[in-house]
Amino acid sequence: MDLRLTADEARFRDELCTWLDRAEVPDGLRDFGSTPTADDVEPARLWQRQLADAGWAALSWPAPHGRGASPAEQAIFAEEMARRNLPRQLSFVTIELAGPILLRHGRPEQVDTMVAPMVRGETIWCQLFSEPSAGSDLASLRTVAAPDGDGWLVNGQKIWTSGAHYADCGLLLARTDPSLQRHRGLSCFALPMDRPGIEVRPIRQLDGEDKFNEVYLTDVRVTSEDLLGATGDGWKVGLSVLGSERRMLGSVAIGLKNELWRLREQLEGSGRDDALFRDRWVAVYTRVELLRWTWFRFLSEAGAGGSDIDSRTSVLKLVSSELQQEVGRLARDAHRGAWALDPQHQGWRQSFLGSHGATIAGGTSEIQRNILGERVLGLPR
Ligand SMILES: Cc1cc2nc3c(=O)[nH]c(=O)nc-3n(C[C@H](O)[C@H](O)[C@H](O)COP(=O)(O)OP(=O)(O)OC[C@H]3O[C@@H](n4cnc5c(N)ncnc54)[C@H](O)[C@@H]3O)c2cc1C
Repeated sequence: MDLRLTADEARFRDELCTWLDRAEVPDGLRDFGSTPTADDVEPARLWQRQLADAGWAALSWPAPHGRGASPAEQAIFAEEMARRNLPRQLSFVTIELAGPILLRHGRPEQVDTMVAPMVRGETIWCQLFSEPSAGSDLASLRTVAAPDGDGWLVNGQKIWTSGAHYADCGLLLARTDPSLQRHRGLSCFALPMDRPGIEVRPIRQLDGEDKFNEVYLTDVRVTSEDLLGATGDGWKVGLSVLGSERRMLGSVAIGLKNELWRLREQLEGSGRDDALFRDRWVAVYTRVELLRWTWFRFLSEAGAGGSDIDSRTSVLKLVSSELQQEVGRLARDAHRGAWALDPQHQGWRQSFLGSHGATIAGGTSEIQRNILGERVLGLPR
């Protein structure tokens, strides 16, 4: 990978910065990470609309739905947004997971009706995969879609569903053929969240935010119109979702790099940026930079035809989530007692508490280590 910007990439950065300098940032908009809280949704919707109108939305999607940006352009976009504390999109699940899955597995009429509203921030999607006894071992999921006339009736419970409390549509994995074992009997549906029989119960998190939910499905009717891919293709569709998720998680490094610089600036001259702090800062910063370049490398390989579900992308998920916690710990220790009480440090407090979920969401660190050990290093199971 050539790390210098080409003339086209430099033009892309200039064009983006010029637009960002003139853009009217909606009141209350902040970089909320991958999932907005209920309070973030309205400013982020306005922002998504502006991005779409100016051609900066769904950057990685192929034209005409997105911009077809190169890996380097995606990285530039992520850096410029993080530098300004702005979100890259209204919802990570919608733009990075559901959209690409629809483009890859959806029927033409699904693409025609569902994709444009995603890009413009008119619809938000959620991911209805995990269940109380099926997280790491997703293939053991029990939500059943039982045949009913020309469709199915869905019954079951999902959990940890980010954004379900305001989502318009969900990517649902359910068992359409209980006679088949594990991943073989699954299908994926694009489920409108206002269908009768769906009950969403928010879960209050450690950091006080309300980003995820339990979702109960009772006799929810779906038809072949709602299927994504063919009946029984659920595992294939699900794996492409998980692969995209891991691949994009490397972009976390870009936000962390900015957080580290912000922390250093805040502490400068406070007497708390002693040798011990600087030593830790440099150690974390070095790992964040390594993660950033590794992400760029995977992006550029994916752009050159690499697969989304390359097992090596697990290293991005593993390292980015552990680094989020390290940055949080560093900020907590550096601010000492003030961190816990001072409202000025609420952002740090929240990102530290929130970072505990990072090593679980999208596949736990233990599972990533298993994947890397078995599929990349070839170690025995
Ligand atoms: C912030 C957050 C947001 C989320 N958002 C969503 C969402 O939008 N949609 C969705 O569907 N899900 C979501 N999830 C759920 C997430 O995907 C699951 O929590 C995750 O896959 C782990 O599953 P589990 O919680 O059932 O834990 P379990 O699978 O029960 O694991 C429990 C413990 O056992 C360990 N373990 C399990 N199996 C193995 C093994 N084979 N080898 C070694 N160790 C093992 C795990 O590492 C973990 O420490 C979210 C989770 C979080 C924290």
